[in-house]
Amino acid sequence: MSIQFREELANLSPYKPGRPIDDVKREYGLQDVIKLASNENPFGCSPKAIEAIKNSLNNLGLYPDGNCTLLKEALSKKLNISVNNIILSSGLDEMMDLLAKTFFNKGDEAIMADITFPRYIATTMMMGAKPVIVPLVNWTYDLNGILNAITEKTKLIWLCNPNNPTGTMFTEKELIDFLDKVPENIVVVYDEAYREFVTRDDYTKDSLPLLKKYANLIILRTFSKIYGLAALRVGYTMASEEIITNINKVRGPFNVNTLAQVAAIAALEDEDFLRKAYEANVEGKEYLYKEFDKLNLEYAPSETNHIFVNVQKDGSEVFVELQKRGVIIRPQFGQWIRVSIGTMEENRVFIEKLKEVLGK
Ligand SMILES: *Cc1c(COP(=O)(O)O)cnc(C)c1O
Repeated sequence: MSIQFREELANLSPYKPGRPIDDVKREYGLQDVIKLASNENPFGCSPKAIEAIKNSLNNLGLYPDGNCTLLKEALSKKLNISVNNIILSSGLDEMMDLLAKTFFNKGDEAIMADITFPRYIATTMMMGAKPVIVPLVNWTYDLNGILNAITEKTKLIWLCNPNNPTGTMFTEKELIDFLDKVPENIVVVYDEAYREFVTRDDYTKDSLPLLKKYANLIILRTFSKIYGLAALRVGYTMASEEIITNINKVRGPFNVNTLAQVAAIAALEDEDFLRKAYEANVEGKEYLYKEFDKLNLEYAPSETNHIFVNVQKDGSEVFVELQKRGVIIRPQFGQWIRVSIGTMEENRVFIEKLKEVLGK
């Protein structure tokens, strides 16, 4: 007799992350490699976060505060929302796991877009729920298509706004019209991982007041992107007290480590760092648009720190060829790749190497 794994795992594969820089250096014997593959902050994080970590290094023998009390209080003050409506996780990746464990029974349906963040489908399937896929239209969420896909089995809807990997967004009006039409027993998960990069003013700048009106809404935010703390793994989620209480039942007792907690508190206050990262992202985006235009490459309009672009050549091939030249990007499918916006220096290197690879 051999051991048996849960049947839900049969159709899952392990997540394939963006390739680490050292891997690529070793494989190709390169000195300089830049990574524009995982939407990381090219400026690292706030120096205040690093200072806070240094000051906590003598606490490593102790378990972290499992309630994240100080971080919750800092968020509560900043966001003007009660601590009872906030829960912290080891990145949003962990939260997606926790949400799946909180809500899915076998046979439930969960609606999501294609293409969007891959953890939605993985965590859904992990719990034996059925993914119901609604294709993007013009690389953008088709909210009406999602409404039409609702059945009596629908348990939850995953929304990513702006969307990863396409970078596109839907407006505040579209969100509210949508929420008005979703039955109140269906959970709507609204992932705002890239909200701080949005430039358009018809985006939902502050989604938190919506929680008062829509008790089925769950809002996800992260310290991994504009705050530049991806290595530490810390995300924050806002929802009704009832939802938070139930997520807490499936959460591990010490899921957010001490260094992550102190760094997040410090990062939250460093408005200068956030403004710099935002402005550099806008500048980098405009530069890359201009260069893509010159090369006649089609791209989706991005409200994030990454651009979804058609390189008119097999994306996996371009991925390998760029890697040999010291640039890591993310192939998507067919001729589409996703490139994260880096420092201006990194953006220029990427364009130079892309031209080489495309023979332009
Ligand atoms: C990067 C990203 C996250 C955040 O992940 P963490 O686990 O917090 O690092 C969440 N959602 C989307 C769509 C993302 O792209």
